[in-house]
Amino acid sequence: MDEFIPLGAAAEAAVSLKRPTQAEAEAAIRTLIRWAGDDPDREGVRDTPGRVARSYLEFFSGYTQDPVALLERTFAEVEGYDEIVLLRDIRLESHCEHHMVPIIGRAHVAYLPHRRVVGISKLARVVDAYAHRLQIQEKLTAQIANTIQHVLQPLGTAVVIEAAHECMTTRGVHKSGVSMVTSRMLGAFRDDPNTRRELMAMIGNRSPDSLEA
Ligand SMILES: [Zn+2]
Repeated sequence: MDEFIPLGAAAEAAVSLKRPTQAEAEAAIRTLIRWAGDDPDREGVRDTPGRVARSYLEFFSGYTQDPVALLERTFAEVEGYDEIVLLRDIRLESHCEHHMVPIIGRAHVAYLPHRRVVGISKLARVVDAYAHRLQIQEKLTAQIANTIQHVLQPLGTAVVIEAAHECMTTRGVHKSGVSMVTSRMLGAFRDDPNTRRELMAMIGNRSPDSLEA
């Protein structure tokens, strides 16, 4: 496996130390409103800097979360269960680090347990912890997979992400209806074509109902 050290609490603290105040963030947003060509003192946008700053706390809440800690509580009573565990169609909301506009899609996260399993909601929270940062899809995919493999030490980990990038649909080349697919396969999912094929069949094998969602 590639060398990988998940961003730990110390690195997170260093990032937050340099965080500006809410007032500084609001001043920057006022500048952007002027840059767009509008008047930040106009009634309709007067409270916008405050709202945008608070929205950023939500969009980028991943910087204050430790994905490693999320996975530390595991369950060993699994009655010998040793087949693929797949969490499919996890809603993904992120922001592209080049344009700071949304990346919207879904993630499929799978692992092949080795004696212990983790609560499934934790897998979704690991996705959010990395997605709620400035990202590119390739790095996001790798970070989720690497962290699960590193902390849970299963026989294999797989992450597949399908997402649309607003920097491509609302600006630049203006191509809508395009999604980007990335995957990271580790352990058995990388080494064993049968295991990988079984996973891809599980991801693709949707009921008509779930396709509507
Ligand atoms: Zn972009």
